[in-house]
Amino acid sequence: MAEHESAQARLDKVVMLIASNIVAEVCSLYLRRRDGSLELVATEGLNPGAVHNTHLKPGEGLVGLVAEQAEPKQFADAQHHPAFSYRPETGEEAYHSFVGVPILRGGHTIGVLTVQNRTMRQYGDEEVEALQTTAMVIAETLAAGGIVSDEVTAETRRDSNARFMGQPISESVALGHVVLHEPRIVVTRLIAEDVDLERRRLQQAIEDLTGQIDDMMERGDLARAGEHHEVLEAFRMFAHDHGWRRRLDEALATGLTAEAAVQRVRNDTRARMLRMPDPRFRDRLHDIDDLSNRLLRFLSGGTETAATGSLPEDAIVIARTMGPAELLDYDRQRLRGLVLEEGGVNSHVAIVARALGIAAITQCKGVLEAVEQGDAAIVDAQGGELHLRPTQEVISAYSDKVRFQARKQAQYAALRNVPAMTLDDQRVGLHINAGLLFDLPHLDQSGADGIGLFRTELQFMISSTFPRLDQQTRLYKSILDSAGKRPVVFRSLDVGGDKVIPYFRAGAEENPALGWRAIRMALDRPALFRTQIRALLRAAQGRELRVMLPMISDVSEFETARALIDRELTILKKHGRTEPSKLMVGAMIEVPALLWQLDSLLPLADFVSVGSNDLVQFLFAADRGNDRVSGRFDALSPAALRAFRQIVLAADRHGTPLTLCGEMAGRPLEAMALVGLGFRSISMAPASVGPVKAMVLSLDAENLRRRLDTLLEERKTSLREDLKRFAAETGVQI
Ligand code: PEP
Ligand code: MG
Repeated sequence: MAEHESAQARLDKVVMLIASNIVAEVCSLYLRRRDGSLELVATEGLNPGAVHNTHLKPGEGLVGLVAEQAEPKQFADAQHHPAFSYRPETGEEAYHSFVGVPILRGGHTIGVLTVQNRTMRQYGDEEVEALQTTAMVIAETLAAGGIVSDEVTAETRRDSNARFMGQPISESVALGHVVLHEPRIVVTRLIAEDVDLERRRLQQAIEDLTGQIDDMMERGDLARAGEHHEVLEAFRMFAHDHGWRRRLDEALATGLTAEAAVQRVRNDTRARMLRMPDPRFRDRLHDIDDLSNRLLRFLSGGTETAATGSLPEDAIVIARTMGPAELLDYDRQRLRGLVLEEGGVNSHVAIVARALGIAAITQCKGVLEAVEQGDAAIVDAQGGELHLRPTQEVISAYSDKVRFQARKQAQYAALRNVPAMTLDDQRVGLHINAGLLFDLPHLDQSGADGIGLFRTELQFMISSTFPRLDQQTRLYKSILDSAGKRPVVFRSLDVGGDKVIPYFRAGAEENPALGWRAIRMALDRPALFRTQIRALLRAAQGRELRVMLPMISDVSEFETARALIDRELTILKKHGRTEPSKLMVGAMIEVPALLWQLDSLLPLADFVSVGSNDLVQFLFAADRGNDRVSGRFDALSPAALRAFRQIVLAADRHGTPLTLCGEMAGRPLEAMALVGLGFRSISMAPASVGPVKAMVLSLDAENLRRRLDTLLEERKTSLREDLKRFAAETGVQI
């Protein structure tokens, strides 16, 4: 297969060699055409005139049977098999015994290799095994570019264009080219020169891989890769699975390289699983693919993701799942879109995608199965759709949509300096959520009133060691410099859960979202917290400083943290440094227990901010990053809205400034409900400021408050439809 001849000449030679090695009168090769039929493309023994003229419909004949079931079949008396299809032009009536093996690629049949004999003979296991290995070599070689004709290719995808549905993470639309986050390794060296060496290489790679998986589970840094515990458990099971190892050994024994053996076993396993009726088995395909891919990466000596390689100008990154830090590894100038197969819309990678302003969707099931590196793609994060290899019509429809989007943006830009005032003269403060330097221009571009949430952990998540005091000071100072007179709320380090800092080993936890995170870590390890406070105090230099404490569950935590902050302030003064003109310390309300401590907390806090992402996940006990449950409960349910209203009423009672900085604040319908409940300040992703401002300008807040009074008493899972109706009736732009 490696010789420099035409694909046809190579295939002719292959069938001839197989026939003579197996001592068979006939060896033929069929490949799938674009229409799904199988074409005889090379033969030794059958009538040469039949080559390219014999076509079998899908499922037709014994060859069709092998193709359909994707497994080897042999028959001692083929002609008397009910599926036998007689083709006079081939001259095969003289042959009785038949063995056929599928040519598989990605678990799909792209052709069939057959051997026939005049006698009614039984083919040995080793012969069938050798045929399968040959079939694999043919598949890989054809995929590497050896196309036989226009109609017959190694393509496994029948439809060139495909459409997938997912959940929108952001609002925009992007056209670009696919970059697989975990690149598929192309196996080029197929035939082993030294079988023992290949065995040792494979052994070593499996040891490295299992070591890595065990390590990740022990360290509990699963979330860096956005991986769930379950997935790693599945990996571990597979990696230790004897059946899998035995199949790899058998593949090696037929003379394949370690890489080719992994590829072959992956193909066979996929082919089997794809045909299982139980969909749970199909879910496992992902695990096999991931595991095989990782193993191939170990064999090729590289363990990196696509972020470190070269990217096209308009990259649309596709992954099963990933962590926020991994997304930040990509070159932002070239990143246009993100498509994930798994993960909730409020997961932290989703938040980072939104902050980057890229078109992003999640829960796009089955896309990895259908996509190839470099495919053209359109991510429509408004409609929650992905178009792969789109037709010209789809491309021009989307180009129109992109132009429309630009016009809309221009309208929002025109609102930039218009204060967000409701029809009944209620001023609503619109702030942005930020976390990195690249967020800064957004403050001016969006016309926001300030930064309502600065997620300081992002700096920690993207660096490879703890940012030093001076590095932290520098970042905070530049943020304050560019914010000018506009307020900035710095949230103290909120790590843990799915926000992992790779160099800080916290140890594995059963329930990281409920574990040692945020303020809990800060109070147990005050050195880290104090360094950060020191950096913030130094950065302020005579300006106002607002510090917000995440994940407060008990008022005493707020008091202890505040005492630490005061101590740092005393030290600052002692060193003769300029103190902030005003220091305000606030708490995030994101743990339900605080709802019943509001009367003790609110008098102590200078301001509070509802972290609705966490508050809603804890209220409903539904993991925000797990798409099986995250969509089950709605923040627009009477239950959640009543909780928010309780906070509004308490804040009014105590005169404590209140805002909300969860992702819901950036969705016009949700933001409308919040204003109706009495929120007069909310904080959101920068791209949402325009649409939310348009909503505010068209809303009568008092009218909505009255409507909510009745709606909140109703027994409903969600008020979403009622609120949409309100907006439609009263002309609110949502
Ligand atoms: C929240 O929980 O709503 C919040 C704003 O914080 P984060 O999303 O960073 O956990
Ligand atoms: Mg939170």
